[in-house]
Amino acid sequence: MKTKTASMGNRKPEARVSQTFKNFIAGEWVEADGGTTFENRNPADRDDLIGVFAASGPIDVERAVSAAWKGFEEWSRMPAPKRGEVLKRAGDLLTERKDEIADGMTREMGKPLAETRGDVQEAIDTAYYAASEGRRLFGRTAPSELRHKMGFTIRRPAGIFGIVTPWNFPIAVPSWKIFPALVCGCPVVWKPAQDTPWSAVRFVEILLEAGLPENVIQLVTGFGSDAGAALVEHPDITGISFTGSTEVGWRIGARCGERGKPVSLEMGGKNAQLVMADADLDLAIEGVLWGAFGTTGQRCTATSRLVLQSDIHDEFVDRLVARAEGLVLGDGRKSGTDVGPLINEDAREKVEKYVRIGQEEGAHLRLGGARPDGEKLEKGWFYRPTIFTGVAPDMRIAQEEIFGPVLSVLEVGSLDEGIEVMNGVRYGLSSSIYTGDVGSAFRAIERIDAGITYVNGPTIGAEAHFPFGGVKDTGNGHREGGWPVYDFFTETKTVYVDYSGKLQKAQIDT
Ligand code: NDP
Repeated sequence: MKTKTASMGNRKPEARVSQTFKNFIAGEWVEADGGTTFENRNPADRDDLIGVFAASGPIDVERAVSAAWKGFEEWSRMPAPKRGEVLKRAGDLLTERKDEIADGMTREMGKPLAETRGDVQEAIDTAYYAASEGRRLFGRTAPSELRHKMGFTIRRPAGIFGIVTPWNFPIAVPSWKIFPALVCGCPVVWKPAQDTPWSAVRFVEILLEAGLPENVIQLVTGFGSDAGAALVEHPDITGISFTGSTEVGWRIGARCGERGKPVSLEMGGKNAQLVMADADLDLAIEGVLWGAFGTTGQRCTATSRLVLQSDIHDEFVDRLVARAEGLVLGDGRKSGTDVGPLINEDAREKVEKYVRIGQEEGAHLRLGGARPDGEKLEKGWFYRPTIFTGVAPDMRIAQEEIFGPVLSVLEVGSLDEGIEVMNGVRYGLSSSIYTGDVGSAFRAIERIDAGITYVNGPTIGAEAHFPFGGVKDTGNGHREGGWPVYDFFTETKTVYVDYSGKLQKAQIDT
């Protein structure tokens, strides 16, 4: 289990500013059953205790599920445009408090303020989109095959949903799930990541202030193995929407399959940026710097592979290394910081393990590969931006998700080879091609096995009104964002109205 507290050893907690935070269950802020708690610390400075949070278990989940069904009675019957109005107010409140929430989020999970502001903005955009969806939630009509008969579909709220989210987008990713669920009329029971419970509490407070009826949202903070597993196993949870690692996701998917629950899985990535010799190299360098080292490489869409056409390989690598050397590591709340810390000690140890693996595999360490020096960085989980060259497609550093600031550079001769290398991994989330040739761009769009392809843009970044998700071991066919996510939280009912006044038999009387 990855805990920020587990790494503290006997260090005396020196709480600078800390509070005790509770679950939100059945309309009240309450302690976890038995009063169990866990600490949450700033990954840039482990002496900074953010707060003590409820460590929930099956009994808390049981109470939350039962309350959510009470909420279903009222919420599912409220007209969808009215439900949308609550989300509109939530969007307004997030807008008002954007800076304050971003500051707390950076303190909690480390990415620089510009990025946490973007995280909140994504939730704002999603709130407004979901609010307007309350006035759509379209059904369809189609002509009947019989006279004096009409057919159409309506959507019905599917039930109550368990929401399980990761720490790297503490508000944006939950908003992609929770806002659509709510506008569809479905209460939620939310288990946020153990590393970002503060952001979750703020998010719930805002929803309540926006006028969400109390039983419609339930927050159970704590660990995946306890609260998360209890949520997945609970027989009265209609379905699960999960974002996180592929390993945990497939396990949850299997359990949901056995229990007959719908499940939406958004999982890991090993995203590649392909740069062709005809590309604008300055633009491509900006793209890979942002894609590989933004959020310290801890994005599902992070660029962890750079695939370079041979003609430009050496020049591109030299220029990239020079730029990456200049990135400033530090506390994301200080201006001038480009790259924050990793989320916790386990994450840094995982990066260190992969750097050792890369060296053992024979890749050439061109940059980084170590913890940084510097007094101000000692108390955080920092790691230097790292670049490996001479990486072969079958090396583990080219195949496995490292989730840190480690970029593997691969060399290819042609577009075809580039696409083959890009597709040669188990994941399929995001991808990018930099080229000046429109034909190459469209061939790549058609042939790259990924849920997202950028042309002349980095692998990271998503807009709230477009579908988001991946193929292969990244997902199970669902999409978040945009319009498809509303299908997950609604059941389609087909309605036939026969006004012929006689018995008409489909397929027989046609
Ligand atoms: P994890 O899979 O470790 O955790 C995700 C969530 O699942 C957390 O809330 C976690 O709780 C919970 N969890 C863990 N075990 C269980 C269990 N047995 N039953 C129920 N819930 C459980 O992922 P991370 O939080 O480390 O996030 C990083 C991963 O998420 C990366 O692989 C990344 O690619 C992926 N990701 C994918 C995105 C996408 O849209 N495709 C977007 C963002 C991230 P706890 O915090 O206590 O461990």
